[in-house]
Amino acid sequence: HPLLDAAGIPYGAVEIFRDTSTRVDALERIRELEGMAYVDALTGLATRRFIDAQIQRKLDEMKRYGWPFGILFMDLDRFKSINDTHGHAVGDKVLRVVAETLIRSSRSFDVVGRWGGEEFLAVVSNVSAEMLGNIAQRSRVLIARSGVFMELEEIRVTSSIGATMALPDDTPESLVSRADALLYSSKESGRNTVTVG
Ligand code: GH3
Ligand code: MG
Ligand code: MG
Repeated sequence: HPLLDAAGIPYGAVEIFRDTSTRVDALERIRELEGMAYVDALTGLATRRFIDAQIQRKLDEMKRYGWPFGILFMDLDRFKSINDTHGHAVGDKVLRVVAETLIRSSRSFDVVGRWGGEEFLAVVSNVSAEMLGNIAQRSRVLIARSGVFMELEEIRVTSSIGATMALPDDTPESLVSRADALLYSSKESGRNTVTVG
């Protein structure tokens, strides 16, 4: 703010500074918490919470515009034995490799998340049931081919997948539980398998 003399000529100025660091800190903290809620710390994938919200958004979109989508529910096969044989840290590494494989193979507008433990869920936009099945098969093959290299061996893991299209009356819960049942069928049929329904 300029300081003027009687004749209106500026002879100085006043500038006011305010310390907003606590507010900035608070904003950064909120962003950090949002990140924690939506980004899985181990794999960098979306969290279950984010995926749930994404499914709800896609259901709303489908009801309004008729855009079809589907989900893939994936569970790693005999993962406990990887932990038991090689240790938890190696198990974690396998989870990160699988996550990276899924991210690299997904289209930019699809969302892949870690549903929990060694379970992953992908929300696949604008697909037919046939395309969804193909994408599921591709994911299965890519996971089976990826591995973690140790000194003496390469650790590989397979996955069982349930793939299903969203239906107009679905809720996020009904959609995920249908995919879960199909995933269970894949386990029953011997694992490293895709079941589409
Ligand atoms: P199935 O083929 O029937 O799925 O067999 P599984 O051994 O994969 O299934 P189960 O549910 O018995 O075991 C899952 C294992 O995943 C148990 C748990 O120790 C492991 N696990 C879950 N979360 C993590 C994690 O964050 N890190 C590591 N290293 N292991 C995890
Ligand atoms: Mg599991
Ligand atoms: Mg498993």
